[in-house]
Formats: sequence, structure tokens, C-alpha cells
Amino acid sequence: MRVAIIGGGVAGLAAAYELEKKRIQYTLFEAAPRLGGVINSEIVGGAVLELGPDSFLSEKPQAAELARELGLGGELVGSNDEERKTFIVVKNRLIPLPDGLMFLIPTKLIPTMTTRLFSWGTKLRMGMELLHPPRKTDGRDESVAELVRRHYGKEAVERLADPLLSGIYGGDSSQLSAQTVLPKLVEMEREHGSLTRGMLASYAKMRKAMKARAVSAGPSAVGGGQAGKGAGAAPRTIFTTLKGGMSQLTSAIVAKLNPANLRVRTPVASVEPTGAGWIVRTGSAEAGPAAEQTFDAVILATPAWAAGKLLERVDAQLAAELTAVTYSSSVTVNLVYDDEAALKLPEGFGFLVPASEGRSMLACTFVHRKFLGRTPEGKAVLRAFLGGMRGEALLAESDAHLIATVKRELKEILGIAAAPTAERVTRWSRSMAQYSVGHNARKARIAERAAKLKGLYLAGNAYDGIGISDCIRLGKKAAGEIASSN
Ligand SMILES: Cc1cc2nc3c(=O)[nH]c(=O)nc-3n(C[C@H](O)[C@H](O)[C@H](O)COP(=O)(O)OP(=O)(O)OC[C@H]3O[C@@H](n4cnc5c(N)ncnc54)[C@H](O)[C@@H]3O)c2cc1C
Repeated sequence: MRVAIIGGGVAGLAAAYELEKKRIQYTLFEAAPRLGGVINSEIVGGAVLELGPDSFLSEKPQAAELARELGLGGELVGSNDEERKTFIVVKNRLIPLPDGLMFLIPTKLIPTMTTRLFSWGTKLRMGMELLHPPRKTDGRDESVAELVRRHYGKEAVERLADPLLSGIYGGDSSQLSAQTVLPKLVEMEREHGSLTRGMLASYAKMRKAMKARAVSAGPSAVGGGQAGKGAGAAPRTIFTTLKGGMSQLTSAIVAKLNPANLRVRTPVASVEPTGAGWIVRTGSAEAGPAAEQTFDAVILATPAWAAGKLLERVDAQLAAELTAVTYSSSVTVNLVYDDEAALKLPEGFGFLVPASEGRSMLACTFVHRKFLGRTPEGKAVLRAFLGGMRGEALLAESDAHLIATVKRELKEILGIAAAPTAERVTRWSRSMAQYSVGHNARKARIAERAAKLKGLYLAGNAYDGIGISDCIRLGKKAAGEIASSN
């Protein structure tokens, strides 16, 4: 059995690692000069800069499990949740997100009623939402913005849903699918009507289950500070990263792979099924003596638009479905400051900027606060996130323009006049899949057609979760299916 893996992001690398462990022969083709895809960290003056993703959700276990398996358990760092406070910029002022928000849903009365984030009209509506009747649906999908607007009104979309989704995913809440992005809320609406009531019920259930688990684990688990360590235990922090940067994870995977199986700077131009397997044609001389090789199976671990291009002549309908998965582009601007105290930052992890503010920045993270121990004492790292579905044009701007824009906006929002000592601008073109309305149905159509092409497997962020753990899960799953078909 010989397998071609196309794409050397975390999904392709996870697939390669799995095949390596199962002693199945593979070749991994990566168009770029380096492996890791959008995961890329750099150490500048002792500070870890994340040019792409900065962490993974602790709740999804695959990334941490893989890190531990690779010997990086001691390198895992949880987010500094004690200082977790996120601000929303409203007319150049920073307003903290009210306490008790869960998945966009307000669950605490006093913080919701006293926040300056919402007008009295919206607060009243949030209270009345408790009376929302359960919804009979015909299974029709809708956008996240529609769902939130129906329950909490327009202002909750503008000041909450939209900045959260664009600041985290570069997404547009009026396009993102409620069924795919917030399935729990769709379910809660069906069952409880009110999302607030649904969330409170789910929280109570979760606490009860945690208590029962703690009791059955015995007194040491209750009093011994073990929460978050045992299998299935609640994660200790919301986010997890690695001391030396997220690239530690991808580098550790690469270190376990046979270098002879890895082809960087080797874009694949097409794949074609033959009676017995797949011909993979590469578009670069560095692919080796033959620019055409035959494999028994192919894992396409590229963005969906790239997979669609490769499959155009194999199955035009499948290619069209893949190409129809929307992707957003983004820019990260990392700024390093030598004197943290001089910045006079408010306490918290950073801020999100609603579209109505008319700014280029979508979000800014106070990196040295979010994860401790990755920035030298006294220094600060601010990471701005720009672009997204509404800011595609920014990618064409020069580094100098982008840095100047971020500095100007930081001055207007935070009053920062100090000059950074290091700056890094990174562009991520069409890298972040956007699950738009109807995504679940599209995903099913893609899976159905792909299943008809024997030996073809799809992995990556276009299908079943855009997070790092999701991509690892799908890469491993593709390799596992190949192994069991062998
Ligand atoms: C700026 C940014 C911040 C993010 N933040 C987070 C975060 O904090 N937490 C989180 O969980 N997720 C985050 N994400 C999402 C997550 O990082 C990605 O979804 C995930 O890493 C994608 O992995 P992948 O392997 O599917 O794709 P990629 O990393 O995009 O890798 C695909 C690879 O395929 C290669 N390729 C494409 N076409 C070809 C071809 N024809 N031949 C050969 N190779 C090809 C590309 O060069 C690329 O290296 C972020 C994403 C971005 C862009």
C-alpha cells in the first residue's frame, strides 16, 4: 500500500504520523518551502510570536493528546483564565463583555442588566427572551446573525455575535451557519425555546455530572487539585498552547516522520484515478526524477478550494462543491514592546472590534497576558488580527501600511504612543474555512461523492471543524480508514 498525502498543514502531518506508526508507506507533498501550514511561530527577543493560530481549545482533546504522545506534555501551557476579560470597542471605548456569557448567551442577570455594552431596549429584550417558546423547525438552516437577532435583537448581533465571530474566525455572522457553528444553540431552541434557559439547564447538568465524577473518583480528586488531569475531566483552562509556540507541535510531528517521505516546495498539479490507484502529478522539478507517481490512495489535506482544483477533471460536481466552501483571508500583525508598564493596558486578554466601528482591526490580543511565561518579564506582545470576510482587500496592502494602520488604531483605542521594538506582518490568504448557511448539507454531498472515488480521502479545516484539534482528528481518521482498508 502506498499513500500520497497532499498538503503539509497539521491535518496532512497528523495523517502522515498515523501512517508512519502503522508502517504504511506514504509520500507527503507540500507546495510551500516549510511544513506546518498556517501553524508558524517565531521567537523574537525571547518572546514567542504566533504568526498563525496561537492556541487550541482545551475542550477538544486531540491536539493536547498528540502533544503528550510526542513528548511535549511538559510544554503545554493553559491560558491565564484568572485574568480573562475581553473588551468590545464601542465608540473608541473599551467595554468588558458582561460576566456570565456562554456561547454568546447571557446567563447572569446583574452583569447583563448593568453592562454598558447594550442599550436598555436590548437588556429588556434579553430578559423577555426567557419566555421564547420552543421552535418547530423544518430543519432549515439560518445564519448565526438571524438566530441571535430573533432572540436578543440587532444590537446583540452588532456588539456581540459579529465581533466574536469575526475576531476569532475572520467570519461574518450574517453568512455563518447556525446549524454548523452553533449546533448546541439550535438544539436548545428546539428543546427549551429560550436560549438563556437552555444554557442554564445545560450548565446545571454539566455541574451535576462533574460533581458525580468527582465523588466517584474519590476524595483525592476532589481536594487534590486534579481537576483537568484525568481522562474525561473538565479542562482546566479554556485555551492551551505550547511554551515555545504552536510550531513545537508540528515540528515534533515532522521529527517523527521519515525525511525521505517528505517533499516540500512540491505543489501537486493534478490527481487522476487509474484502475488500480491514483496518479499524482507534481508541478515542480523538485518532486524527484518522475513528475508523475502512482499511489493506492490519496489524502487531500489542502484547503477545499485547492482540493476542488485537483479534482476538476475527476468529478466536476465534487470539485464544484469543494470550491463552493467559502474561505476568508486574514493578516496578523505582531508588535513587541520593551516596556509593558508604559503601555498602561487595561486588565484582560484583549479586545474585539465590531464592524460598525469602521476600523481595520478585528481584534487585538494582549499575548503576554493570555499565556504567561512566553514573553520575557517586563515586555509586551500585542497581536492584531485584520482582514476576514469583509477585509479581504487589506491583504494587498504593504507591511508598512498595515503596521502604521495598527499603530494608529492602537493609539486611538488604547492611547499607546510607544514604538514597538519588533514587528511581524503575516498574510494568510484563503486559509480559514467559513461554514456558511447550508454547510452541513454540502458536507454530506461532498462525503457522498468522495466515497464513490475509491482510495480518495479528504481532511482539513473545510469539513467538520476548523480548529487545530478538528484537523488532527480528520487527518488521523483518513489514515485510520486507509489502514483498515489495507
Ligand atoms: C490566522 C489564523 C489563526 C487561527 N487561529 C486558530 C487558533 O487559535 N486555534 C485553532 O484551533 N485554530 C486556529 N486557526 C485555524 C487552524 O489553524 C486551521 O484551520 C488549521 O491549522 C488548518 O490546518 P490544515 O492542515 O487543514 O490546513 P493548512 O494549514 O492550510 O495546510 C494546508 C497545506 O496544503 C498546502 N497545499 C495547498 N495546495 C497544495 C497543492 N496543490 N500541493 C501541495 N500542497 C498544497 C498548503 O501550502 C498548506 O501548507 C487559525 C487559522 C488562521 C489562518
